[in-house]
Amino acid sequence: YKAKDAGRNKFHFFSDKMEQAVEAHARLEWDLRRAMVGQEFLIYYQPVVDLRSLKTIGLEALVRWQHPQKGILPPGRFISVSEESDLINQIGQWVLYTACRCVKGWQDRYGFDGTIHVNVSTRQIVYGDFQKVLIDALAESGLPPSALTLEVTESLMIDPAEDPISKLKALKETGIQLAMDDFGTGYSSLSYLARYPIDILKIDRSFISNIAADKQKQSLVEAIIRMGQSMKMNIVAEGVETKEDLDYLVASGCNAAQGYYFSKPVSWKAYETTLEKQTEKKGLF
Ligand code: C2E
Ligand code: CA
Ligand code: CA
Repeated sequence: YKAKDAGRNKFHFFSDKMEQAVEAHARLEWDLRRAMVGQEFLIYYQPVVDLRSLKTIGLEALVRWQHPQKGILPPGRFISVSEESDLINQIGQWVLYTACRCVKGWQDRYGFDGTIHVNVSTRQIVYGDFQKVLIDALAESGLPPSALTLEVTESLMIDPAEDPISKLKALKETGIQLAMDDFGTGYSSLSYLARYPIDILKIDRSFISNIAADKQKQSLVEAIIRMGQSMKMNIVAEGVETKEDLDYLVASGCNAAQGYYFSKPVSWKAYETTLEKQTEKKGLF
């Protein structure tokens, strides 16, 4: 309406902008399809740390795009566009296969005994034959299902008509674990969550950062920890960046944590080097 009021020129300006946005979107989608064929994706790994032993008990697989001109792009630059088409199924499948294969190799070569966490989009679970993809990835890699955790989000709960509970139960039948990611940012309640076959609750970074100094965050997080644990879930705090926040979480009985305080996500090669060094050290004694 504003454009109309202002006359013809404004209207043209507006439509040009729209056209540019549509074009940029189409170009990105095209570029992603090319990247899929050219194998330009990588996985970075970030440790999940047990808060009692401070040992690494898992790794989260986080996809990156090694763009030939733009360098390494984070998922925020391309996941949402890929979720609008079948691209997310292709990228998601590649991440799952690659992460399972990689961790199986680390189990065999270095005795790695943690789990691998893989992010799965709602679209993959609701509109694809994801159970088959999962069974194939486990069979092809030889990774024991108990070593795999799939991270899903609250957006799964938006459309009960798609029967997400049965779909999750079917995935769990393979023997894997399920984590609810970014908990607290969606609209679901803990009582709703109780009906889902969830093993791990990951509290979103927005509730964790600076928690040591924020009474309101403390009471929210303590309630989530208590209720989650009473539903037999393990609680992981995301985005721990400081010693103060870590100490607070340890004292509040949180089970595990992830964050820059322990490690940023690192490349496959960098994590392999860490494992190599740990193995050498063990060999000395
Ligand atoms: P997420 O699953 O919540 O992953 C955690 C994000 O927080 C990662 O960003 C990680 O690098 C970042 N992070 C970890 N610790 C800290 C910290 O202490 N401070 C701060 N400021 N950030 C921290 P990243 O790698 O950019 O990934 C963003 C999101 O992209 C992920 O959020 C996840 O939702 C999505 N994603 C990543 N890989 C995949 C994938 O393979 N498939 C799908 N569907 N989504 C993915
Ligand atoms: Ca995640
Ligand atoms: Ca998260």
